[in-house]
Amino acid sequence: MDGNNSNVSDLPRFLAFGELKPLVKRLRMIGVDCAYDGGISLPNAIQSAICENRILLTTTSIASSIRLKVVKIPEINPDEQFKILLIEYPILRRGEHLSICLVCNEKLKLYNGETSVTIVPNSVFIRNLALLWCPKCTRIFWDGSHTERMRQKIKMLLNSINH
Ligand SMILES: [Zn+2]
Repeated sequence: MDGNNSNVSDLPRFLAFGELKPLVKRLRMIGVDCAYDGGISLPNAIQSAICENRILLTTTSIASSIRLKVVKIPEINPDEQFKILLIEYPILRRGEHLSICLVCNEKLKLYNGETSVTIVPNSVFIRNLALLWCPKCTRIFWDGSHTERMRQKIKMLLNSINH
């Protein structure tokens, strides 16, 4: 929703393995594609990363190879983990903020009357807010206090990185 002119498809894509859910959420907030499945085994995570051409983020020591790029994430607080990754990949700043479903990692689309689990309050329709829809979980999103808090968080995270 924060428009810019970069080509988002140029951004590296990630697959997180292990206790990295809070980091995953932060990446998705800034529009970075980061797959995550809490129940997946390490061999499957490696296989998926290779097949889908994703960089593997993990707290475990795994060697990178020609086919697999690995970034080891230290077990520190997620804001600090986020900073480490943004310093290593400054291009991630070009992500389109709040453009990805935080739950599913799906790119949100403009809502066009599709079936949804979300009941949109009348006040939202009255204010004529733009609605975004996740094709996977069918949730609908709009600008409100929740997105405002996320924007503040994103701003705080990005401003905390000196480069
Ligand atoms: Zn979703």
